[in-house]
Amino acid sequence: MNNHSQVLSARWIIPVTGNPINGGWVRIQGGRVVEMGSKPAPCHAQSLGDVAIFPGLVNAHTHLEFSDCQRPIGESGISLPEWIGKVISTRQSSDETSREQAIGIGIGELVKTGTCLAGEITTPPCEYPGNESGLDLVPFAEVLGLSAERGSQRLELARSNLRRYPQGGVSPHAPYSTSRETLGACFELARKHHRPIAMHVAESPAERELLRTGTGPFADALQSLGVWEIEQFPWPESPFLKLIEQLASTPRSLLVHGNDLNESEIRLLAEYPHITVVYCPRTHHFFRYDSHPVDQLLSSGVRVALGTDSRASNPDLNLWNEVQFLLNHRSDLDPLSVFRMATWSGSEALGRTDIGCIRPGCIAKFGMVRSDASSLEDLFGDCAMNGYEPLWQFAA
Ligand SMILES: [Zn+2]
Repeated sequence: MNNHSQVLSARWIIPVTGNPINGGWVRIQGGRVVEMGSKPAPCHAQSLGDVAIFPGLVNAHTHLEFSDCQRPIGESGISLPEWIGKVISTRQSSDETSREQAIGIGIGELVKTGTCLAGEITTPPCEYPGNESGLDLVPFAEVLGLSAERGSQRLELARSNLRRYPQGGVSPHAPYSTSRETLGACFELARKHHRPIAMHVAESPAERELLRTGTGPFADALQSLGVWEIEQFPWPESPFLKLIEQLASTPRSLLVHGNDLNESEIRLLAEYPHITVVYCPRTHHFFRYDSHPVDQLLSSGVRVALGTDSRASNPDLNLWNEVQFLLNHRSDLDPLSVFRMATWSGSEALGRTDIGCIRPGCIAKFGMVRSDASSLEDLFGDCAMNGYEPLWQFAA
């Protein structure tokens, strides 16, 4: 650890938890930010020149066990039930060793592209490397099963994962794949051990159809997979309002996707600041869903973080590519909100206050984007075009 103070200056600093600073500087000591300001920079500052310094990126949702996929599974526009059938057949040949190899590949990709913290959905048993890679992971043990037997097996594995990873959480997979009894047991487990929950919710209109009527493409897919349980569907009225209340009963939760959330569900979410919606822009685009309600979520005051989901539905795990996708395709969003979703909101969702922002006390893990812009508008244009380069040497 370098205990000498270092000062960095750059054309722009984007603290995310504060306003962008044109001509800013940051003083670092012991791997942490101790002071920052606007020009003039102290005379001994090391100038990084025409760049914007950003916090480290936070990927709030991924499944690293699919990181050996060379390309997404299925063609763009595939229905979610059909895609899940293909994923299950791909996964049948995986074992603990192949999962761990894929996870190693995924960690390498995340680090190379500047992600410093990730919410990872894991299939226990699974051994993760230590944090010598520089990546902090919050592993959520996935639980699923419409039958009581499958659900209780996976719950037992999740319990052992919680004992192994003190920062870890529980991930009941989705309402179409997990019985209501097992979901209830997951929420109870999270409350009992003060752990976070991550769950795929309202991912596609077919999911809503299944929960409301017990029919549709998901019912057909579950039947053809041989896992249909007749007493599980439909759910009682207002299934997503009920699920949001259940998520709210846990210490902290990540509602993943939310592509199909409606107005009343968004209003209810806004009452619970300990729930974060995780939006995976390019995965959403892969399935060609209708426009994501991220604008309504943000304007209602719901925290939204970004995730890549896995390489089974996304060509890569580079979170900056999600940022650029939004800067280029969602001009209705304030670019500063997009930067926040890619950094600080993910940290808050994953229970961290010392990473994903630039302010005194935070870990000095940054990234830079080349820009000689003199206005914010031009800076946003450069961010939509230029890559993000990790700057982690100051945290060591
Ligand atoms: Zn996912």
